[in-house]
Amino acid sequence: MADRDKATNQMEEFKRTQGSPDTLTTGIGSPVGNKTASMTVGPRGPLLMQDFVFTDEMAHFNRERIPERVVHAKGAGAFGYFECTHDVSKYTKLKPFEFVGKKTPLAVRFSTVGGESGSADTARDPRGFAVKMYTEEGNWDIVGNNTPIFFIRDPFLFPSFIHTQKRNPQTHLKDPDMFWDFISLRPETTHQVSFLFSDRGTPDGYRQMNGYGSHTFKLVNKDGEAVYCKFHFKSDQGIKNLSADKAGELSGSDPDYAMRDLYNSIAEGNYPSWSLKIQVMTYEEAEKFRWNPFDLTKIWPQGEFPLIPVGRMVLNRNPKNYFAEVEQVAFSPAHMIPGVEASPDKMLQGRLFSYSDTHRHRLGTNYLQIPVNCPYNARLRNYQRDGPQTVNDNQGGAPNYFPNSFSGPVDDKQWVEHMDKYSNAQVGRYNTADDDNFTQVGTFFNKVLSPAHRENLTSNIAGHLIGAQEFIQKRAIGNFAQADPVYGRMIQEKIDKLKAKKQVSVPAQL
Ligand code: NDP
Repeated sequence: MADRDKATNQMEEFKRTQGSPDTLTTGIGSPVGNKTASMTVGPRGPLLMQDFVFTDEMAHFNRERIPERVVHAKGAGAFGYFECTHDVSKYTKLKPFEFVGKKTPLAVRFSTVGGESGSADTARDPRGFAVKMYTEEGNWDIVGNNTPIFFIRDPFLFPSFIHTQKRNPQTHLKDPDMFWDFISLRPETTHQVSFLFSDRGTPDGYRQMNGYGSHTFKLVNKDGEAVYCKFHFKSDQGIKNLSADKAGELSGSDPDYAMRDLYNSIAEGNYPSWSLKIQVMTYEEAEKFRWNPFDLTKIWPQGEFPLIPVGRMVLNRNPKNYFAEVEQVAFSPAHMIPGVEASPDKMLQGRLFSYSDTHRHRLGTNYLQIPVNCPYNARLRNYQRDGPQTVNDNQGGAPNYFPNSFSGPVDDKQWVEHMDKYSNAQVGRYNTADDDNFTQVGTFFNKVLSPAHRENLTSNIAGHLIGAQEFIQKRAIGNFAQADPVYGRMIQEKIDKLKAKKQVSVPAQL
């Protein structure tokens, strides 16, 4: 079987390591005598209720599926470690950055965003990039994407935004009117849409893309001093993207392309790695910054806030079981540990609630007891008890109320969070729709992209936008033109050409 890749050969590999088969049992561990015939009254007769061997299996089968993730349903996971390579203790007391050479075990899940769990890995879509570090002070998750920004800046718009990227409520089809209607009505999407339709919108697998924490976070050091921060995972494999044509072809011929590539790479000992870097902004700099530093549709220019190296993430183990370790892995931006805290970023604040909330729905109240989510490097002690699927010792006989006089766990002032001041702020609903949606897009179009990349970007947009109605096309092009008139004009010209050739089709890629 030398010609088969490791993923294709997984069953053969299991057989080799297993040796001879074990005796089959039911769910209660009792041996099974016959696995191919249900118990019936005579050879043609009806089944018997007493056949637990059959009902045990069938009832479990009927309950195999849990709800798929509303977003990021299709994904691949892997395990490895983070190694600190540079001293950043002046910024943060984060345990994984405690000293140079320190290694912290971690889990990672990469994903597409909009597609269902069986959808193609090569779709034009942002890629999820979620990391869970199992530290002595709890599990710390960085739940980001392969882009440093996002489509919107207020989480109130998130459910509507996702509805437009998914399926039409009647036809259950992807709908370019819905997609572009929302995008063009909310011009703050222009920056991320420009990334999405650039070559980076179709990365060549998960190994050859960067990851970003995307949000602004707060780092706190041992002296209680805070700075703002952004996280960047730079691929040590380099960036490699698929052409739009190749991505389209693979979505039919190998929809699991990225998952297969990651699995095989790790199984062959070719461990992918990423260099973690941070950008740091002081509170004073944040006050003076020309943009809102907490706006998720914007980056911090690297010339002004240079990347500071921190360490390296290496993935060296494939999941032993996909469902147990990947389908059930639960990341949340709210999973923070001493040394990292939330910033006022509205999108982050919204996600702090929604990620843990969706896990409680999808996996249950006790989702943190599932082994892959369990803070196994920390000593968990609290007053949470009971609930469905309590599978650990439920903290035994320890007091289940606080305060108490019986040696239940106590709080310790050294762990109190950093405090921010909001003295004169007025509570309200602030309209952020026009908060400079175009300057950074113009910089991206003119200074980052080469002429060839600008051609690809505008072709990709035109090829998709043409599926929407003309009034929506005009409004969308008006937004791109505000970033740069050339940008808008190039899209319009390409749409005109496609119309002349009557190449109007609804692309399958989004
Ligand atoms: P820099 O020249 O310092 O950074 C440009 C960045 O663009 C690099 O980080 C590069 O990422 C990234 N890049 C290159 N090609 C693409 C692409 N096709 N799609 C997405 N990103 C790409 O300039 P600034 O930091 O001042 O940023 C200028 C503009 O670059 C921004 O307005 C923004 O649109 C874009 N950008 C900025 C990032 C940041 O964190 N500052 C990150 C990504 C994009 P890499 O180094 O990984 O190759």
